[in-house]
Amino acid sequence: MALTGLQIQKLLPKTNCKECGCNTCMAFAMKLAAKKAELSECPYASDEAKRVLGAAAEPPVKALALGPDKSVKLGGETVLYRHEKTFVSPTALAVNVNDTDDPASRRAVLEGVRDYVLERVGEKLTIQMVCVTHKGDRAAFVDLAKNAYEITHKPLVLRSADSKALVAAAEAVKGSGSLLASATRDTAARLVETARANGHALAVTGADLNELVELTTTLRAGGFGDLVLDFPAASRAERFQTSSIARRAALKAGTKPLGYPALRFIGGTDLLDIAAEGVDDICKYGGVTVLPVFDKALLTALMTMRQNIFTDPQKPIQVEPKVYAIGEPTRTSPVFVTTNFSLTYFIVSGEIENAGTSAWLVIPECEGQSVLTAWAAGKFSGASIAKFCQAAGLDAMVDTRQIVIPGYVSQISGELEENLPGWKVLVGPQEAADLESFIKARLAS
Ligand code: SF4
Repeated sequence: MALTGLQIQKLLPKTNCKECGCNTCMAFAMKLAAKKAELSECPYASDEAKRVLGAAAEPPVKALALGPDKSVKLGGETVLYRHEKTFVSPTALAVNVNDTDDPASRRAVLEGVRDYVLERVGEKLTIQMVCVTHKGDRAAFVDLAKNAYEITHKPLVLRSADSKALVAAAEAVKGSGSLLASATRDTAARLVETARANGHALAVTGADLNELVELTTTLRAGGFGDLVLDFPAASRAERFQTSSIARRAALKAGTKPLGYPALRFIGGTDLLDIAAEGVDDICKYGGVTVLPVFDKALLTALMTMRQNIFTDPQKPIQVEPKVYAIGEPTRTSPVFVTTNFSLTYFIVSGEIENAGTSAWLVIPECEGQSVLTAWAAGKFSGASIAKFCQAAGLDAMVDTRQIVIPGYVSQISGELEENLPGWKVLVGPQEAADLESFIKARLAS
């Protein structure tokens, strides 16, 4: 839990020596509480102060990194709701394979996971993990773990109720930064040593939240913190409730033993049910979500949802302001202008491409706002667009002297013509979907 300035001041030397740049220890404590200073700026801070303040500075949900290169980030969350501040670690999606599955279909799933990329509003979205589930014989499970890692090079969720099988598989993929699932009271001692020795994280489970708290408390006390919570839940509603209770306890009550990312295994074969459970988990508060099938339609829906939930609501997704070449434009190709809100850019550029036309697309700095919002905020005016075009050297780039503005801001056409001497402004359609017919009717040469 965050400490107040007064609580921090009690931990400082109280000599007011000013070496930290503040006149008093109290002033320095206030800066620390506001996260505007680092304790290391006080050369006389005691070990006790470092310990207490270091623990207080940890996020209430522990941050973990999985994978051979530690690129799959989990946890680190500090808020319950995304309108308070952004969520920091998108739910890692994993696809399950069983050691009893037909080898050819298993290989197809693993290659599908490896190759899957969804490009949306400029981001490349991928599947971060593979879950390998032990259902048959121990050797087959270990072989599949090795095989899954060799094919995908992604961290694994190794899932088995047999701790000997888990130990063998964990050793076989040492260094992959995987997740062992799931330790119980009876198996935790052995599995934590395996996880530690092989560079993996450990999921823990129990009969109820109390048992989970006991288990994580014991493991934390033993110095192992790379933990993930596999909540017990008999139904979707119970799961939703349990993960909300745990997250609230970690964030609002400072319950450290519940301050870990969550792991969820989704079962069943009905794609709509699977999608609904995946959405639950992405919204409330999934760390790793294991899907029972590899299905591109399902993945598209969940990845889109995940991107929306984990985008900073205070920072619209935006593209770099510049003049973009759409297709292979020449000096006489048409010129369009719109804002640098990613969605606007990708829709407009897509519609220009769909029309089979090459063009120049001018994207001025509009702080990532959509056309009408940017216009209302004074960021997409005739004067500001003209200034951007001049700074970008548009006159020298093209021979065209006609620029198409979005129909929603037809009122800026006069101002733009005044500020862009020699250019004619053409008012385009209001909706990007109408660009193709507009291009064919008004711009086709
Ligand atoms: Fe106080 Fe440390 Fe700052 Fe000196 S350097 S004023 S002891 S906080």
